Amino acid sequence: MIKKVLDYLFPNFTCLGCRGEINISEYPNICDGCLEKLDFAVPSKKDNIITPFVYNDVVAKMILGLKYSSDGLVAKTLAPFMRVSVKPKNYDFAVPIPLSKARQRERGFNQATLLAQEIFAGELEINENILSKVKSTIPQERMSTAERFKNQAGAYEVISEVKGKRILLVDDVITSGATTTEVARVLKEAGAKKVEVLAIARVVSYTEQ
Ligand SMILES: [Zn+2]
Repeated sequence: MIKKVLDYLFPNFTCLGCRGEINISEYPNICDGCLEKLDFAVPSKKDNIITPFVYNDVVAKMILGLKYSSDGLVAKTLAPFMRVSVKPKNYDFAVPIPLSKARQRERGFNQATLLAQEIFAGELEINENILSKVKSTIPQERMSTAERFKNQAGAYEVISEVKGKRILLVDDVITSGATTTEVARVLKEAGAKKVEVLAIARVVSYTEQ
């Protein structure tokens, strides 16, 4: 009976890190084992990129869940960790890294927007009318850093006024930093005063291949 009540109250009782069952006493949506494996970056801020976690297996599984389910559960679970890493008053608005129109249509949502909404609900304006992805980029998994930067060049366009604005970009994971570097470049060129990046995790072992 109690189990039925609990199941009713907590319908998503599966760990987002390992898909295992979660005990009531454990952290919402992350089992104790996965929580232990989460590698806190405390939060690290390097090259204007702020990330609460270091990228590892558990984070990788959660990010996969973020991309392929629109229920927002992963975003809800990770948002508090990202929220404590930044001060909303330091920015004029948050800008989710846009997907290409084709990708957005295919997926039905932008995971960076889901994240931004969960992180800042009412605390910081989320502006999706600043950037447009004008060139489809090729999946970058097997690319070297140099190839990634080349792939991203000219992929984004600033489509509204950003002069003097302090902007926080929101992305899921930072690998080489090619995407956010390119976006920051076009925003600065258009007159933005400050551009920083908030992401779930950063790949720290990433090196030139
Ligand atoms: Zn787990």
